Amino acid sequence: MSETASEASALPLKRGLRALARGLGFQLFGVARAESLGEDVARLGEWLGRGEAARMSSYLGREYEQRGDPLRLVDGARSVVTVGMSYGQVPPDCEGVAGKPEGRVARFALGPDYHEVLRPRLNEMAEYIARNASAPVVSRAFVDTGPLLERAFARRAGLGFIGKNACLIHPRYGSWFVLGAIVTSVALPADRPVSGDLCGECRRCLDACPTGALYAPRRLDARRCLSYLTIETRESLAPDTMRRMGNTLFGCDACQEVCPFNNDSLPCEEPGLTSGSRSERFPEWDATLERILGIRSNREFDAMFSGTALLRSRRSGLLRNAAIAAGNLRRLDLRDALRSIVRRGNESRAAREAAAWALEEMKDAQYSEKRGERL
Ligand code: SF4
Ligand code: SF4
Repeated sequence: MSETASEASALPLKRGLRALARGLGFQLFGVARAESLGEDVARLGEWLGRGEAARMSSYLGREYEQRGDPLRLVDGARSVVTVGMSYGQVPPDCEGVAGKPEGRVARFALGPDYHEVLRPRLNEMAEYIARNASAPVVSRAFVDTGPLLERAFARRAGLGFIGKNACLIHPRYGSWFVLGAIVTSVALPADRPVSGDLCGECRRCLDACPTGALYAPRRLDARRCLSYLTIETRESLAPDTMRRMGNTLFGCDACQEVCPFNNDSLPCEEPGLTSGSRSERFPEWDATLERILGIRSNREFDAMFSGTALLRSRRSGLLRNAAIAAGNLRRLDLRDALRSIVRRGNESRAAREAAAWALEEMKDAQYSEKRGERL
């Protein structure tokens, strides 16, 4: 049977799969052919070559060519099914927990770890394919941890275009989506990619980037990106970077917050991924700076953030970030907590240095406080 004829015969399967995906909470669904993504792989190679992937190059660089080639991941791969789940449009509440400014957590990380939410649903979709295909099939699910360029396949499958902020953007619903993919040996009818560069003359994301990490359209230097620095690194940061972090605690959404395509973003329908008030959804870990700076052991940290993406930064990373946010917010009420970190020999060097830097940064505010000025 020709490719087109075999795809056409699989149309009912695709329809059923789409309906199942919708029922499982995926608002976006599309299928791409399981072809090698030569251009995307070349771009990934150039990015790695420029050193802009920072330390991610150690795992991204490993056999990076296979990331754009589904045939290297699943024997006889014919289709890549891609799905997207909205994680909400409500801005995170960090401007005044208990009347004090707090650290900002990226929206994706405000709920439980999305990998845990998506994985079982993708497996359910893979089982559906196996049950309904006309012949035995092989399928494999990916949620951004496996060696697959999900975003590039999602673009091919018509889920959106790649904006100047390097995010996948649905033309109507924006970019607040987490993505998943299934590489399968079934030939499903492919969808059409979104055509054209819909950003036009806009450059809001480039102007909004606090560190210049987004230094040109679709060019992102992870070494300067606050998402990378606050989530993936634990070492000391340069004073200039610390100042530019503002109240960033974990992840950064600045280049998405300003994007006009996010004006009509879809509400999150999955309760586990909503981004409302932290205290409403996480009464047990309202991640105030005071609480984070007060965590004294890895065990306490693990218990507090169990099941959330914040675990990824480890205690030393989050403590460092919280100290920097406290300094930038001039949280004078946290001086004792910061001094305690500086004194504790068992804290990481980065956390102690960040705490010392924060105390130094607060000196101007301290001076104003002594003069009785309103801060
Ligand atoms: S996530 Fe933040 S730091 Fe990184 S490119 Fe976007 S705006 Fe810049
Ligand atoms: S902010 Fe503007 S330039 Fe950036 S991704 Fe959105 S539309 Fe494109």
